[in-house]
Amino acid sequence: MASKYKPLVPELELKPCPYCGSSDIRFSVKTTTISFERAYHFTMYCWDCNCYGPRVLHKTGRHIDNRSELERNTDFYTQAAEAWNRRVTND
Ligand SMILES: [Zn+2]
Repeated sequence: MASKYKPLVPELELKPCPYCGSSDIRFSVKTTTISFERAYHFTMYCWDCNCYGPRVLHKTGRHIDNRSELERNTDFYTQAAEAWNRRVTND
């Protein structure tokens, strides 16, 4: 099944959703504040059942206000994808 959504790092293969089995896994960025400092949460989530993977927290001294800059950051994407792919058993 073809999806219009283009993964940011296509060569990085994402495991299917552990709940519904979907392979439509997407990247999400959220801005937050920790101790008055700007921080970002990254996560992969399942487009079909809306479950979220582990959140990767990134604190930065630099404010990134440009949403597309955040959403296109391959470094952040890779961290979120690796967290998503982590399972208790690696089978
Ligand atoms: Zn799912």
